[in-house]
Amino acid sequence: MSTIQRAYKTELDLNNVQTTACRKHAGAARWAYNWGLARKQEAYRATGTTPSAMDLHRDLNAVKHTNFPWMYEVSKCAPQEALRNLDAAFAHFFRRVKLKQQGKLSGKVGYPQRKSRKHGLGSFRLTGSIVVFSDAIQLPRLGRLRLKERGYLPTSARILSATVSEHAGHWYVSVLVDQEHIVSANSGPVVGVDLGVKKLATLSDGTEEPNPRHLKQGLRKIKHCQRAVSRKRKGSRNWTKAVHRLACLHRKVANQRANTLHCFTSRLAKTKSVVVIEDLNVSGMLKNHHLAQAIGDVGFGEFRRQLTYKAAWYGCRVMVASRWEPSSKTCSQCGWEDEHLMLADRVFRCQNPECGLALDRDLNAALNLAKLAGSSSESQTACGEESSGQGHVALVKLSPLKQEPDTFDASA
Ligand SMILES: [Zn+2]
Repeated sequence: MSTIQRAYKTELDLNNVQTTACRKHAGAARWAYNWGLARKQEAYRATGTTPSAMDLHRDLNAVKHTNFPWMYEVSKCAPQEALRNLDAAFAHFFRRVKLKQQGKLSGKVGYPQRKSRKHGLGSFRLTGSIVVFSDAIQLPRLGRLRLKERGYLPTSARILSATVSEHAGHWYVSVLVDQEHIVSANSGPVVGVDLGVKKLATLSDGTEEPNPRHLKQGLRKIKHCQRAVSRKRKGSRNWTKAVHRLACLHRKVANQRANTLHCFTSRLAKTKSVVVIEDLNVSGMLKNHHLAQAIGDVGFGEFRRQLTYKAAWYGCRVMVASRWEPSSKTCSQCGWEDEHLMLADRVFRCQNPECGLALDRDLNAALNLAKLAGSSSESQTACGEESSGQGHVALVKLSPLKQEPDTFDASA
């Protein structure tokens, strides 16, 4: 038996007084983050070293009474945790700088930026005495807050922290708990999953997961709303209303996307013993503008992240095939390779006269992926398994030339 950390997020049902209190806390967290960032930058320019979150918190406490008396209106956790977030932001920045120096990262390194109210009210994290009821949560300083959904938050687990956040006028709480966890091996079948653009995914057992394309449907409405915003005088009452309508629409589409993906990844992790997926170069594919919309809609990177952590919960194994594995070009029946297969060819036709297989292109690719699960079990015992700390991710026939830096990030 082991324990895992797991977060439960649900919507809050706040009254006006509580909303104001939450806004103040979010404001204090944002302010502390920006204050800490400025202090770190000043110190770095002057001495070449930076104070840690603990140093900053001590400094802040020393001047709080005289300079920032308004801080006594909010829980001391809000600024303290914001400073911890700042430390984490710098840690990620330095990690990515290191990867960039080693040539393993092509994206931005992400120097921590100031938090602006323009990008939403943001969030704040509280620790200490947090009590969960079936229909409410009790937080330090904020008191008992009602929940919109009953019985979702775990009432008996050990609570580590609670994060309150705002999105388009709605307030949420995310509770991080330490849970006892028993992983029982999953006895389901082995399945290969080919992610697509037209369809969300094709499974090697022949089933297909249709692509909901929420963004495409919502896009027209969003465009319409966007135009309404730009027609109005900035800062006017009607402009504010139009901006809120637009934000609500974005929120709806984002929720629909998240739901589709969560349902699919949960089902895979709960019912399959091994899931083989392709290691797609997501950032590379997003640069292709024709594919960008569809892929951004589906969220390939998010798919993999969810599948990896859920697999660890439900005793499923995720295997990632190298992106150089010719899964779509190879015949799943006889192994013949079609060197001239184009992206537009939707049906795979085997030219081997003794085979002559004609199959849906995606299904053929999924079958090849499923086969890799069987073939790699021998090679793993021979050459040692490439796996994460939890041992739930293995890379099949990993190409030594190009290895993604974040390939084995199973901790997320
Ligand atoms: Zn064939």
